[in-house]
Amino acid sequence: MSLPATDPCVHCGFCLPTCASYRVLATEMDSPRGRIHTLKAIAAGELELDATVASHFDSCLGCFACVSACPSGVRYDELIEATRPKLNAPELRTPAQRAFRRLLFSLLPYPQRLRALLTPLRAYAGTPLQALARRIGLTRLFGPGVEAMERLLPPLEPEAFRDDAPVLVPAEGTRRYRVGLVLGCVQRLFDPAVNSAALQVLSANGIEVVIPPAQGCCGAVTHHQGELEQTRELASDLLQCFDAVIGPGQPAGPEPLDAVLVAASGCGHTLKAYSSLLASAGSEEAAASPEAALAFAGRVADIQEFLERVGLAEAFAAALQPLRHGDGTPATAERPLQVAYHDACHMLHGQGLRNEPRQLLRRIPHLRIIEATEAGVCCGSAGIYNLVQPEEAAELGRIKAADLSGSGADLAASANIGCSLQIRRHMEEAPRPIPVLHPIQLLARSHAGG
Ligand code: SF4
Ligand code: SF4
Repeated sequence: MSLPATDPCVHCGFCLPTCASYRVLATEMDSPRGRIHTLKAIAAGELELDATVASHFDSCLGCFACVSACPSGVRYDELIEATRPKLNAPELRTPAQRAFRRLLFSLLPYPQRLRALLTPLRAYAGTPLQALARRIGLTRLFGPGVEAMERLLPPLEPEAFRDDAPVLVPAEGTRRYRVGLVLGCVQRLFDPAVNSAALQVLSANGIEVVIPPAQGCCGAVTHHQGELEQTRELASDLLQCFDAVIGPGQPAGPEPLDAVLVAASGCGHTLKAYSSLLASAGSEEAAASPEAALAFAGRVADIQEFLERVGLAEAFAAALQPLRHGDGTPATAERPLQVAYHDACHMLHGQGLRNEPRQLLRRIPHLRIIEATEAGVCCGSAGIYNLVQPEEAAELGRIKAADLSGSGADLAASANIGCSLQIRRHMEEAPRPIPVLHPIQLLARSHAGG
């Protein structure tokens, strides 16, 4: 198979301590160095990509911590991205694995389908019934994949079942910028408060927000699993949604956007890759608009990245108040609110954003950021990894939750919906559970008076 170069790997092993799969499986074949060695052997015709070999690639979380750690500049991210589509060959997975993945890919990227499935579960999620079902092991009867899904299911808010955001949210005061907002298919259903907070913060910072009402998934879920055809369809649909509301005579008016923002780092990573994704050979839709894909991808920014780049509005920054501790007392210089910031892999290793979220949080008075010991190690969420590799993911989730809660922080901040769901689920079992919130929620709360 033809792949990006594996040659720069000098087998030094510096990447091994950062590798999440190596951490829990402890075998060379499940490390970046081992997988690179395997790719070389396949390319040399010494090894075949059979189901056993494929399973060692499936165990990779795609967290890219190895890319950040590698002193030789090996682009493992490109290697695994080029390998993933080959892992989807039918003979490499069991019928049950294929069926479960098909189910996930036909549900997760489609908010309306997911809503239809979740509607009857509103009477279950977050209720004593759910606690009872877990206690007596009822969910285990449906197999490890479904059990893992159920364990991640948060209480379902009424807002998750509404698409009532206006197409245009005006800026408060003088308009400084005009941006689009990608809502995220999982985020809008499982944590709608994040997008509400994003709208409050943006508007209060003099930023007008355009929200295409028919938008679906950006394609991150399928992109990270090498399902390229479906990803390109989803990406093309999203581009069309933006085109349908911006322009002369369109609901959001004719002016172009300064940026396209998203508050979920897994989505941001894929949105920034649209130009290469849609320009890839075999994508007919991309051939129709490569310039549009390039222009769109060039405008994509994580909401924290954008706010740090343009700066907070003076009035907004001046209005920020200390947040409150769990006992209701406001944070003070003597007793600051301590926040453990969790670096999502697709933010830190995938987009190279480490300082921006921390800088933004530091604007909140009397908020102190605590660095967890394992800040750069994956939490085990990794798209659908915690559903298709539930045991390894659970082990990583336990490590992450224990690390964050053991840091002594009052709460944890996570800027990716997948990580937040995974950490909250495992925080339940931590010795000192702490809440997990998106940094933009903390900023909105601080602006609203703490
Ligand atoms: S990928 Fe980089 S860090 Fe890992 S073994 Fe190869 S050269 Fe060393
Ligand atoms: S992407 Fe993450 S899990 Fe995969 S080899 Fe690199 S460090 Fe390990």
